[in-house]
Amino acid sequence: MTLNPLHRMRLWDRQLPIWYDADYRLPLTAFGRRTGLEPRRADLVAWYLLEWKWLERDNLRAPVRARYQDLARVHTEAYLGQLGERDTLARIFGVDPWDVPVDEVMRTVRLGTGGTLAAARESLSRGGPAVNLLGGFHHAGPAHGSGLCAVNDIAIAIAVLRAEGFAGRVAILDLDAHPPDGTAACLRGDERVWIGSLSGSSSGSIAGVDEVVLPAGCRDHDYLQALDALLARVPSDAELAFVIAGGDVLAGDHLGHLGLTLDGTRRRDLHVAKALAGTPSVWLPGGGYHADAWKVLAGTVLALMWHTRRAIRPGADPMAVRFARLSRRLRQDGLMGSSSNDIDFSDVEVQLGLRPSPRRLLLDTYTAEGLEFGLYRLGLLAFLERRGYGGFRFEMGTASSGGERLRVYGTADGVEHMLVESVLDRKTVGGAAVLYVEWLTLRDPRARFSERRPRFPGQDAPGLGLAREVTGLLALVAKRLGLAGLAFNPAHYHTAYVARSYGRFIDAVRQGRFEALVRDLGHLPLAEVSQAIEAGRVRLNGEPFVWEAEPMAYWLDEGPPDPSQVAEERDRSHFTLEPGVDSGGSPDRAEE
Ligand SMILES: [Zn+2]
Repeated sequence: MTLNPLHRMRLWDRQLPIWYDADYRLPLTAFGRRTGLEPRRADLVAWYLLEWKWLERDNLRAPVRARYQDLARVHTEAYLGQLGERDTLARIFGVDPWDVPVDEVMRTVRLGTGGTLAAARESLSRGGPAVNLLGGFHHAGPAHGSGLCAVNDIAIAIAVLRAEGFAGRVAILDLDAHPPDGTAACLRGDERVWIGSLSGSSSGSIAGVDEVVLPAGCRDHDYLQALDALLARVPSDAELAFVIAGGDVLAGDHLGHLGLTLDGTRRRDLHVAKALAGTPSVWLPGGGYHADAWKVLAGTVLALMWHTRRAIRPGADPMAVRFARLSRRLRQDGLMGSSSNDIDFSDVEVQLGLRPSPRRLLLDTYTAEGLEFGLYRLGLLAFLERRGYGGFRFEMGTASSGGERLRVYGTADGVEHMLVESVLDRKTVGGAAVLYVEWLTLRDPRARFSERRPRFPGQDAPGLGLAREVTGLLALVAKRLGLAGLAFNPAHYHTAYVARSYGRFIDAVRQGRFEALVRDLGHLPLAEVSQAIEAGRVRLNGEPFVWEAEPMAYWLDEGPPDPSQVAEERDRSHFTLEPGVDSGGSPDRAEE
């Protein structure tokens, strides 16, 4: 079979190399909720593209950590020394020092930088685009880091290529919502680098940057016009381009100030890809502090591989699809649970009444070994290990309520800590048989509460940041057991708030009031609202409001409760907050 040139071109596009590693996720538990940053962005993109068959496993490349001798081509040795200290990384990532596992954070930073370097080499040898799912750390300067940028991956990649003899002109097209102050500082001495920037905020004009600052809220049409004008100024003799296809240009981004739609970001990438056709190019995600930021990055890959404007389905949940597939495979392998009736001597002893019956299977289905393997396979144990825990131990028992208790312990520095405790039961709720979560706590016992990380009512240790994964896991369990869904009683406002994207109050009126509460007070710091409710300082239509811990459910198949009833109650409920002595403390703004 012969291929016409267009077909050959398309096949070549489909071979787009993409750098990705599971450890692209920062091992920090505290900052996502404050900044709107989704630490799983690279995972969600890789899973979406694989599960929806937009790419093959062959497209994915594993990065290696950038070497210190390469980091030192750009950064001062004094600064690189400081990166080995918690305080430096805590400042850069906007978290408390004790929250920073230094080696693991630096592993993520160096993997991302290694990915950018490898993508640059490959794009040069390939003569076309390459993507790294982490990178574009454009605020890092030679002797300092800030705004989630510890080292400057683009400057490092260029310095390494220069040392290897690459002398061509380089164009950097920085389309993050913030301007590239660090990149400009790092590359000041390189005459053969052109930097263009299209952002929504400026700290003043940056020397050496063709900088365009757009008005706040700038929408697709005006943005694309400004982009085309900037693209016309990209040096025509550039032999390599870096593109930061920033995810923080979306309307509603926590830290960006622009107003693009998802379709606008896709058109942005298509315009750039067209302008750079034939030029080796390295595409990087930059920032993104919006629940849909992963869709911008997935869209960048779709633009480069498929030249398509086809939207990502609004409800697409790559984690749920990924977990479901892994779970099916675990079951096929016979590894997740066994209901075998093998009798060993301990069973005989139990039957003879010589020892109390230990619980052997959770929900008559899952063995401790099966559970541990499942958590390993879904990547949760690796995350806990990066947080410093190992030697996991699973313990099953019966709670005083009669529900089935599962505890997961982990050891750190020679001390065993309880990390997870859940009490599960089968119950009938709202007329359906569900997996009822009586109790669930995900604890990071070595972390501390602070002003940055306030204590929520009912918490005895800061959380692990794994609620989304664990909910996905419990939904799979419910499905496996043939139940209609998950249900739980949110004892506090913040529990319901965190669960609101998938869980709904079974009672429509209660759901309507909850939606009104989020509408009226959802802009305030979550801990403050939750504490104010506990303290009786929140009023509903002028009357004191008491939190109603009624069941919420996550139905696997059914739709939400009667929407008109929800809307009716929502519209007539108005919440106000009385000032309290303990309020105040401005929310943190990490900047990228
Ligand atoms: Zn940014």
